[in-house]
Amino acid sequence: MHAVPITATKRLADYAKVIGDERYEELRTLAKAAKGRTMLHINATAYGGGVAEILQNLVPLLRDVGVDAHWAVLDAPAAFYDITKKIHNALQGMKLDLSDAEKKLFLDVARENAAQLTDADVVLAHDPQAVALRHFAKDPKRASWVWRCHIDLTAAHQPVWEFLRPFVEEHDASIWTMPQFVRPDLKQKVLIQAPTIDPFSVKNQDMPIDEAREVVRKFRVDPARPILLQVSRFDPWKDPLGVIDAYRLVKKEVREVQLVMIGSLADDDPEGQEYLDRTKEHAGGDPDVFLFTNLDGVKDREVNAFQRASEVVIQKSLREGFGLVVAEGLWKGIPVVAGKVGGIVIQIEDGVSGYLVTSSEECAARSLDLLRDPALRKRMAQAGREHVRQNFLITRDLRDQLQLVAPVARASYAGR
Ligand code: UDP
Repeated sequence: MHAVPITATKRLADYAKVIGDERYEELRTLAKAAKGRTMLHINATAYGGGVAEILQNLVPLLRDVGVDAHWAVLDAPAAFYDITKKIHNALQGMKLDLSDAEKKLFLDVARENAAQLTDADVVLAHDPQAVALRHFAKDPKRASWVWRCHIDLTAAHQPVWEFLRPFVEEHDASIWTMPQFVRPDLKQKVLIQAPTIDPFSVKNQDMPIDEAREVVRKFRVDPARPILLQVSRFDPWKDPLGVIDAYRLVKKEVREVQLVMIGSLADDDPEGQEYLDRTKEHAGGDPDVFLFTNLDGVKDREVNAFQRASEVVIQKSLREGFGLVVAEGLWKGIPVVAGKVGGIVIQIEDGVSGYLVTSSEECAARSLDLLRDPALRKRMAQAGREHVRQNFLITRDLRDQLQLVAPVARASYAGR
């Protein structure tokens, strides 16, 4: 594994005006108890996807409050990511027979990476890619080990879960986004913590609407015409083809509507290019459908701008761990129409802060409602932003992390 350089600096004091004095003071008290502790986060990629997004912001913030926080990503051959993507798909419900050779490679990578572990009081291993590290750690009892699962395991393919479960259970505790995601056969201390977004990251920080429209115009999208937007890896579970179907239904009624789909090609997602090609094909050369990736220069600032310049954010997932993009849209005051799955349901109260949908037809109908009614858009936007402020800002994650790393709290889950 190798360390991810932490270049950003964050100051907790800046967040006081967003979260209020009481929560700010609570964090300062917790930080005192956690000061000087070391924490190591490990995941599969430094770029692309929700986990990297969280760690980019959380690790600098932990450092600001006195925790000696580090972030490392696994070193692995491409074949490992093919396997872990299959495991990811199986945990979301796809049938999969892992061969002995695949299991062996999965564990070999864990063994090799575990040999490079650095000392820490708490190690947080994220997702299946990092689940077996503790098993191969030289001195696993030196640290408290916590596994954080960002995936919805409700419909997990049991044989694959059986393969992973012993490794999960070796940890002192595991963290899940929602109680429903926890497998009933898991014997372990369980913590429930939903992911969060950083209101001051380049992706989420305030941006004047004129600046956002200027960015959008540079990509030849017309900010004067309505925009539907989905920001997601190109992946079957994010249903990019279904998004295009929904857009087509909207287009029948609102001729000037445009669809923008932004999807980074994450390092650990081998399916990305193939699914981008399929999506392009499905769009069939429609000049009002725009597909962008990080390779087109659409990065955090551009995602921020597109989200702000859109009338409706769509997240038509068929399965979802949490769906950070939903919180990102809501925080920016854009109503979100999203699949009624996974962690999306704790972010959107249907009909209040957005709409939950189960088909392209429904997605189109609710998007039309919003396009036709600016007052409805405004009402939902306000409710959505407040819900994110209360529950899904990074300061909430910081609180949970400080509670994990503070020695007194550790005793309660690590049994020492
Ligand atoms: N993202 C991005 N560019 C893209 C696609 C995604 O910056 O082209 C970001 C997105 O804004 C969000 C994260 O990647 O912060 C995706 O997290 P989410 O939880 O929605 O989905 P995941 O990819 O983890 O399944």
